[in-house]
Amino acid sequence: MTRTDLAPVAPTEPGAPVPPAAPLLLGIETSCDETAAAVVDGGGRVRSSVVSSQVDLHAAYGGVVPELAGRAHLSLLTPVVATALEQAGLPGASAAGAPVDAVAATVGPGLIGALLVGASQAKGLALAWDVPFVGVNHLEGHCFAALLDHRDLAWPLVVLLVSGGHSMILAMDGPGRYRLLGQTLDDAAGEAFDKVARFLGLGYPGGPAIERAAAGGDPGAFAFPRAMADSGLDLSFSGLKTAVVNAVRRHPDATDADVAASFQQAVVDVLVRKTMRAATGLPAAGVCLAGGVAANGPLRAAFAAACDGAGLPLYLPSRAMCTDNAAMVAAAGAWQLEHLGPSPLGTPADPGAGLPLDVAPAGRGAVASTRPVG
Ligand code: ADP
Ligand code: MG
Repeated sequence: MTRTDLAPVAPTEPGAPVPPAAPLLLGIETSCDETAAAVVDGGGRVRSSVVSSQVDLHAAYGGVVPELAGRAHLSLLTPVVATALEQAGLPGASAAGAPVDAVAATVGPGLIGALLVGASQAKGLALAWDVPFVGVNHLEGHCFAALLDHRDLAWPLVVLLVSGGHSMILAMDGPGRYRLLGQTLDDAAGEAFDKVARFLGLGYPGGPAIERAAAGGDPGAFAFPRAMADSGLDLSFSGLKTAVVNAVRRHPDATDADVAASFQQAVVDVLVRKTMRAATGLPAAGVCLAGGVAANGPLRAAFAAACDGAGLPLYLPSRAMCTDNAAMVAAAGAWQLEHLGPSPLGTPADPGAGLPLDVAPAGRGAVASTRPVG
């Protein structure tokens, strides 16, 4: 089934039977280095959200070590799930029956060993509790993060999805309906933050480290390039990264604060300019940020100012919902369960999965993608 086959949702008629209480979903997220579980109800209310970060484990290596991540998920996930159920006021596996109505887990994209741990545990719990399993696309999960905090959205939205592995500008025509408007041609925005932070010796993860270092710096100290700022909606960060390296070599006395602030400003400028151009061109009814980089304070402030100037509402997930978490996975899973049905237990983990797209804009190689439906 393609996304364009979806039937519209019928509005509730006066006098229609009252729908059953919103189903409770357990969400599980283990695509990279966060072990997370959450309970969300079908109305999108977060009953609990537990995230156990492996940052300390990987910091010594300057980045995520896939094998270590998988092993850590294996030991952390069971207690994290138990804590999420407990904090939601739900009994664990007991004679009382299933504590939730469905179990959703990220099945891709991500690290294969890490994905397998979360997806297998979710399938096992679904089987044991005799409830549906829902395999969720991690990128779609990020798109649902802002929806958790905002109920009154108008469509279409332009979504800037910026994480460690992906950078995309999307038209979101409604929940589950995405068109790709632009994407990075090389590094993801978060990857650029991580690499520049590593080069400057600021530590891992790089995004928060750069933001902290930049707080005392001059964003105008270096005029770093804003690649393709005025052409198209695709993004590129590898030239910026090289410019930072060259500037530091030419100016060994430059402070980390000035370099970090100037780099961050260049990323923010490009992301704001391109996203706002996409939003006015569409035209969009609002702008939404998603993914780990959307936790960046100066980026959030710049978007607030730009949207204010353009008269467009800005939908920002809380900082905790920008970085990887399971509440967004459960929310996407709840929508998916209602509109596409459960996923087969044979749904594979897919490390290279793309966001399920509606038909792409004309001229960009129209592709209708499919997703497994039970
Ligand atoms: P993934 O890429 O695995 O989906 P996330 O969505 O959590 O993970 O995004 C992680 C990325 O977000 C990392 O590259 C990290 O450096 C970046 N990031 C996190 N917080 C910030 C921040 N405050 N400023 C800039 N980048 C950030
Ligand atoms: Mg992510």
